[in-house]
Amino acid sequence: MGLWLDESEDLLSERAAQKLGVTVSDLVSVRVVRSVLDARKKGSPRFIYTLEVEVAAGRAPEALPPDVSQAPPLPPPPRPVKEPELRPVIVGTGPAGLFCALGLLERGVRSILIERGREVVERRKDVAKLMRDGTLDPESNMNFGEGGAGAYTDGKLSTRINHPLVRQVIETFARFGAPGRILVEGKPHIGSDLLPGAVANLRAELQARGCEVLFQTRVEDVLARNGRVAGVRLSDGRELPADRVVLAPGNSARELYERFAGDRLVSVEAKPFALGFRAEHPQSLIDTIQYGRAARNPKLPPADYKLAENLDVDGQVHGIYSFCMCPGGIVVPTPTEEGFQCTNGMSNSRRNARFANAGIVVSVSVEDFAREGFHGPLAGLELQRFWERKAYELGGGRFIAPAQSIPDYLAGTLKRKPGETSYRPGLAHADLNRLFPARLTRALKAALRRFDKKMRGFASEAGMLIGIESRTSSPVRVTRGDDLQSVSLPGLYPAGEGCGYAGGIVSSGIDGLRIAEQIAVELGGEPGGRTHGVPGEE
Ligand SMILES: Cc1cc2nc3c(=O)[nH]c(=O)nc-3n(C[C@H](O)[C@H](O)[C@H](O)COP(=O)(O)OP(=O)(O)OC[C@H]3O[C@@H](n4cnc5c(N)ncnc54)[C@H](O)[C@@H]3O)c2cc1C
Repeated sequence: MGLWLDESEDLLSERAAQKLGVTVSDLVSVRVVRSVLDARKKGSPRFIYTLEVEVAAGRAPEALPPDVSQAPPLPPPPRPVKEPELRPVIVGTGPAGLFCALGLLERGVRSILIERGREVVERRKDVAKLMRDGTLDPESNMNFGEGGAGAYTDGKLSTRINHPLVRQVIETFARFGAPGRILVEGKPHIGSDLLPGAVANLRAELQARGCEVLFQTRVEDVLARNGRVAGVRLSDGRELPADRVVLAPGNSARELYERFAGDRLVSVEAKPFALGFRAEHPQSLIDTIQYGRAARNPKLPPADYKLAENLDVDGQVHGIYSFCMCPGGIVVPTPTEEGFQCTNGMSNSRRNARFANAGIVVSVSVEDFAREGFHGPLAGLELQRFWERKAYELGGGRFIAPAQSIPDYLAGTLKRKPGETSYRPGLAHADLNRLFPARLTRALKAALRRFDKKMRGFASEAGMLIGIESRTSSPVRVTRGDDLQSVSLPGLYPAGEGCGYAGGIVSSGIDGLRIAEQIAVELGGEPGGRTHGVPGEE
């Protein structure tokens, strides 16, 4: 049911009763299960609600209107399985690792989680240092540490995938302390200020129920015996025996993927991804473009956008799109290695920063890697590193990001110095045309011009590009079969974004849950319906 901005939510009960042909007093309860802002009609946005209502016994209408259905019954909780002698080892405490551990616990299986970085609260200090003066801790940063790349992210829980477990992931975050509103928001968003708390609570529950978590411990290699996984070797030299290892180290665990490609024990292949820039605009400009005359209405959240174009450049079709849009957010440095520059975006729960940012990226395929001279399973990773190195040099070091206004980038000029920005440790005025192969630059420019037609003012002087956005998803895939195990090393379960099976917090969490379910089934459990469907990329 829709409500205009000047209508109150109190009207919902009345309208629900009308729709069902009953009186308001016949309704035992009315609960908003989803509310979505419909801003397609410029100047007249409205909220669309999905409600769950309970009608008093004997008062339910005989026939339901076409857009009303009976609420489905809750599925029964999964049954425990016999715990194996050796605990499963999980590499990484990002969403894939944490949700896998939680899924295993639901089945009565305790695991050992290994995390190279620091606990989420300590990690905050390392992230702050990087933003203050460009001092990078290669083991504890925006990508590495408890909670993974997910912990200090924006915490947008919207996903393009349509999987029955989406709801479970969102409910789990709410159960561990994320704001309850995420249960009803059409585009649920936790915020970088609240997400670490939920991650810490989730981990505390895992520990309280018998899981072990080793922090500041890096997995250096996967061990094998008789053609099957036999454990992991840790950075302190210890070998941890395991006959099931869930590999969820995220998209920046480069040295692990290099090791796999080098010794060929674990099969890895190159995977397409996308790269480009972060675009930053004043939030007020985006609000005006998206909401028109309603822009200042206090009921409206800071506006977001989603842009995409498929363009033929020199006979090759490129997909160019906005990625991980953060209304009221900041642009952040996300490197994991000294000398390589990359960025991403995040926002706090209130989304009250003065800027809006989004990645503007072009997809790059295995053929693109080859055209640039990169071949083999690590071709994408090498291309990613190559452009991150160039961006670092263009910025002049210490993770100062090269930046250029959008009109200057389009014209190949350097007329206007970067103005105010949210990016720390700072910007260097530079010609971003010096980055990326000419073909990709042409595609990005053509798309920016089209985006400006869809959102008038997007390519105006108020818009700035900040270099570079390169870790949109993993440049490798650790190949696995239908049993979710590595095709070359049984007992190894490649998981989440880094191994090429997810592209965001929710899809990574779902992938972790699916692997937990697969392991439970192998341990003799009944399938709980979680192993169906591949989450895939967002
Ligand atoms: C700044 C930023 C903002 C983002 N915003 C959003 C958003 O709003 N919404 C969204 O859906 N997605 C967002 N993402 C992407 C999202 O964070 C990832 O898709 C998701 O975290 C991937 O989950 P994962 O568990 O597969 O890997 P990760 O979250 O990357 O976790 C991997 C973990 O493994 C650890 N690790 C790595 N190597 C080793 C090793 N050798 N030994 C032991 N541990 C290791 C790492 O320290 C890390 O903790 C954002 C990413 C960033 C960087």
